[in-house]
Amino acid sequence: DFATLPDLIAAHARERRDKTALIHGDDTLDYATLDARMDRFAARLQADGVAQGAAIAIVGPVSIAYAVVFLGALRAACVPTPIAPSSTPEQIAAMIADCGAPVVFADAGIADAVPLADLAAWLAPEGACPAPVTIAPGDPFNIIYSSGTTGTPKGIVQSHAMRWAHIARNETAGFDTAVTMISTPLYSNTTLVSFLPTLAWGGTVVLLGKFDARAFLEAAAAHHATHAMLVPVQYARIMAVPDFDMFDLSAFRLKTCTSAPFSAALKAEVVARWPGLLVEYYGMTEGGGTCLLIANAFPDKLHTVGRPIDGHDIRLIDDDGHEVAPGEMGEVVGRSPAMMTGYHGRSDATSAAEWFDAEGNRYIRHGDVGRFDADGFLQLLDRKKDVIISGGFNIYPTDIEGVLNAHPSVADGTVVGVPSAAWGETPVGFYVPAPGGEDAEAIRAYVNARVGKNQRLSALEAVDEMPRNAIGKVLKRELRDRWVAAQG
Ligand code: ATP
Ligand code: MG
Repeated sequence: DFATLPDLIAAHARERRDKTALIHGDDTLDYATLDARMDRFAARLQADGVAQGAAIAIVGPVSIAYAVVFLGALRAACVPTPIAPSSTPEQIAAMIADCGAPVVFADAGIADAVPLADLAAWLAPEGACPAPVTIAPGDPFNIIYSSGTTGTPKGIVQSHAMRWAHIARNETAGFDTAVTMISTPLYSNTTLVSFLPTLAWGGTVVLLGKFDARAFLEAAAAHHATHAMLVPVQYARIMAVPDFDMFDLSAFRLKTCTSAPFSAALKAEVVARWPGLLVEYYGMTEGGGTCLLIANAFPDKLHTVGRPIDGHDIRLIDDDGHEVAPGEMGEVVGRSPAMMTGYHGRSDATSAAEWFDAEGNRYIRHGDVGRFDADGFLQLLDRKKDVIISGGFNIYPTDIEGVLNAHPSVADGTVVGVPSAAWGETPVGFYVPAPGGEDAEAIRAYVNARVGKNQRLSALEAVDEMPRNAIGKVLKRELRDRWVAAQG
């Protein structure tokens, strides 16, 4: 049983014509119209001679036109390739060149691109039908570029089979009657893992623009939202809205989260105050999601990211690529039916990302350090590249961050390793102060009294805002670079 997303949408267009597929502000699109626009988009691509399998680049903020480009490209068996508009012009040019897209759709500012605002005029005439295409399970579905925090962005190729594996697994998650709130950008896999199943099973997607906690709550209540995918920093902002409890969120059934550390205290607060299940996923774009935690069911496991999903596997390995003994910490490698085919045109980087077990099964290296507890729940210690090596000791910033963030004067705290003549590296903290709190020296003394001797912060600095990327991940490298520059 293998189905493609365009075929599933075509079926909804026949069976539930007027049902709303997409909402963005006052803009809405029902399934029949969405399906017709996908046809007109695909027909125009074909008329322009764009071949099956070609990458179709999309650069712009979330909109219904954006969704039509993504889904219409699939209908022509082309490969939607969303590119973060926050990238530099050089990076955008590099990604367009890398994927070889013959057509680019952009909101503005890119030479020769079709403006997303004029998409309606670009489509083939009403009633146009594309020539039928055949899609094999191994064909590429989309390309997602890595954010480039670790070098030039690499194009992660995901196949129709892997997307189908993920969509099929979510058939029982109630997406057929879902109203799913999307508040992260569409170029991120974090977003696609709830956007795609909602449309595949015939639910309604509500696209929100730039994140605002109150606007999220107002929209969720107005649309009787049932599902939402949010990242941890968004949960934190929503729970901090003073009259959170006044919003009617009673229709909620499933809230999901992924992409960054989510504190146990915050998970507990979401479970206690917000109706419906809270499910946290752990994984990476390259590896598919491999672990999940149903927070409501395991109140004493909220410091973990849960257990491997059925049909998925996680192993922990040492620096030599050997599995560690049970209970020991090691680098996470994961195996999922939804893992990438490879990096586009980068077989070197693809092999570097792979690990094989004794039977030759393929796993993807996750770059995170973790440990399984006695019940098989995975606890993440940190990203391998963020581990601080100080005087020969491995220091996990998350341990120190836990203490720092527990201080009432700290609204948002992060710890990074900076170069040190004496120790190789040493931990330094950055925090956004909570109003009316103690000063940095007092907070540093508090932290240093509560962590191990080699975990003590060499310095603690207040910042106005924590630098984060568009899906809420702290940009640790930026903090480190800033620190190094300030030291002269
Ligand atoms: P880049 O594009 O630079 O590789 P990235 O690695 O942040 O960016 P992703 O592959 O989407 O992009 O992110 C995967 C990483 O996100 C994981 O390796 C892990 O560090 C983090 N992560 C994902 N889920 C969770 C979670 N539930 N808890 C903590 N961290 C998580
Ligand atoms: Mg990554």
